[in-house]
Amino acid sequence: MPNTPNIAIVGAGLIGRMLAVNLSESRQVTLFDKDDRQGSRSAAHLAAAMLAPLAESADSSRIVMQMGQRSLALWPSLLKKLHQPVFFQQNGSLILAYEQDHGNLVDFGHRIKGEMGKDYTNLTSGQLAELEPELARQPHTFKHVLWLPEEAQLDNRELLESLAKTLEDRNVVWHPNTEVSIENRQVVFDGQRRSFDWVIDCRGLGAKNQIVQTKPGKHKLRGVRGEVVRLYAPEVNLNRPVRLMHPRYPIYIAPKTNHRFVVGATQIETEDQRQPTVRSALELLSACFSVHKGFAEAEILEIKSGLRPAFENNEPKIRVDGTLIQVNGLFRHGYLLAPAIAEQCVALIDSTLPKPPLFELLIEFTENHHD
Ligand SMILES: Cc1cc2nc3c(=O)[nH]c(=O)nc-3n(C[C@H](O)[C@H](O)[C@H](O)COP(=O)(O)OP(=O)(O)OC[C@H]3O[C@@H](n4cnc5c(N)ncnc54)[C@H](O)[C@@H]3O)c2cc1C
Repeated sequence: MPNTPNIAIVGAGLIGRMLAVNLSESRQVTLFDKDDRQGSRSAAHLAAAMLAPLAESADSSRIVMQMGQRSLALWPSLLKKLHQPVFFQQNGSLILAYEQDHGNLVDFGHRIKGEMGKDYTNLTSGQLAELEPELARQPHTFKHVLWLPEEAQLDNRELLESLAKTLEDRNVVWHPNTEVSIENRQVVFDGQRRSFDWVIDCRGLGAKNQIVQTKPGKHKLRGVRGEVVRLYAPEVNLNRPVRLMHPRYPIYIAPKTNHRFVVGATQIETEDQRQPTVRSALELLSACFSVHKGFAEAEILEIKSGLRPAFENNEPKIRVDGTLIQVNGLFRHGYLLAPAIAEQCVALIDSTLPKPPLFELLIEFTENHHD
């Protein structure tokens, strides 16, 4: 592709791969990552990949909800571009609460209507039985259930693999197992220093010490620990992700294909990278068993911990410093927000494109930036 912008993307986790697929349609893209092609150590590899803008709004801001809704509209066409199918399901989410936690569910409903300006439905037990017959038959029946019909989920590992395959088929140059630093907007690796028309820093928490300051003293990146269990439960049939509204164990159970379930996730303010603790495993598994007794005989396929990259306000940011773009702070919403964030980055690089919704809210320029 002669005379097309030459772009380096540093970090091939979630947003790096998504951007590479979006940009490589008409530009030369080179991808770098310190990890293998599976991205086994990225936050992206661990995630449950729920696409739940309203369910997440219990603890996240209006802008995250709005961008999440934008992304929900973009996911289907994006997945169609990929060279391998990815499990994607838009069957809604259910939020369950035990009798003693009913007040929390009511508050959450008020937040959805009042602050987010959206709607939801309270399900009767008959309606729950139609949507999730096995939940309605549990000894501990849920009398308080909230239904968010538009929410979705996908299979994160299938997505990562399909993005990689698409990039491979397009002959995008990919340097795996290559640790990179970015100095003076150049890519420095293996004793080399290379210049590109644009450098996009998608290193997640790996960029912690190299985030540019748009305002002095702002924008500290931190890691927020999360632990997740993957189960094989042939005795459980759920048709959509289910969340438990609980003051201490706010878990979700996301059913993937072939009776595989992702149960998560703890959220702990620490950058501790040890394996999951006994306390967290007990919390996740007992809460999951309390929702559906069929999990008693489930096989534990995996239990892992990881760190989510987050800024102080838990909102993502795209920072622009000349020809360096830093995309970070996706926190617990990377899958929820990735298509909308990628759309904004593409519009930044190609100034002939119309500005997508919420562009001004997400993008920050450094003080010395010149277009
Ligand atoms: C437990 C858990 C559950 C989650 N569940 C959900 C969910 O249900 N829904 C949702 O929307 N989001 C979820 N997330 C959040 C989501 O996974 C993250 O927001 C997303 O992965 C962040 O994407 P990223 O590309 O910025 O970072 P990452 O996915 O971590 O990718 C960063 C990449 O940069 C590479 N890198 C780092 N430093 C360097 C370097 N110096 N040189 C070269 N490469 C480097 C890394 O190897 C990695 O591949 C979850 C996260 C966790 C931890």
